[in-house]
Amino acid sequence: MKKGNLIVISGPSGVGKGTVVKALMQRHDKLRFSVSATTRAIRPGEVDGVNYYYITKERFEQMIANDELLEHARYVDNYYGTPAAPVDRLLEEGYDVILEIEVQGALQVKQRRPEAVLIFIAAPSFDELARRLRGRGDTAEDQILQRLETAHTEYSAATSYDYVVVNDYVDEAVDEILAILTAERLKANKQTQILKEANEYAVSPNV
Ligand code: 5GP
Repeated sequence: MKKGNLIVISGPSGVGKGTVVKALMQRHDKLRFSVSATTRAIRPGEVDGVNYYYITKERFEQMIANDELLEHARYVDNYYGTPAAPVDRLLEEGYDVILEIEVQGALQVKQRRPEAVLIFIAAPSFDELARRLRGRGDTAEDQILQRLETAHTEYSAATSYDYVVVNDYVDEAVDEILAILTAERLKANKQTQILKEANEYAVSPNV
């Protein structure tokens, strides 16, 4: 069986990456979401084992020590990380696996798994990002400014990504990500079976 693609999606707070990922999952049935481990508190509406595995700092540090994580990062005073075993199992089963993680973790994945496809979701403009963050109406202005500062750093890191997709309209962003995934599947180094078969074909006269 052909191994699936490891896909990493990042983007600044407020860009709507959660919505894009959700819509993407609905349109690609061989795509699975990697559930991260985190030490942050569970939020209303979230489910343990679905949104995250909510674990203690001690357990998280043990996972780091045991090399159980494909990547991890500290973000706003909490740990976040990707358990490696479930990702590898799904890839072996032929699923594409999506990691929705921040930029420090994404760059670690690229180092450890150079074949990973890194996609950065950007807003149509920085002004629009600020407008979306303020439009939510649930975040204090000082926090919005802090998120915009963080977004600056994130956009700088995005130059190391493979693709940048602008989330103007969700459906179009999803179309573009699906196009990227199709192109990745068609890469010559992922088509070894069909090329090998052609090479090994013994040409003989048709008698
Ligand atoms: P939130 O607390 O709002 O769910 O997530 C905060 C940030 O952590 C988001 O940018 C999210 O993409 C990122 N994140 C979620 N899971 C992981 C993970 O496993 N590793 C890393 N490096 N970042 C993560």
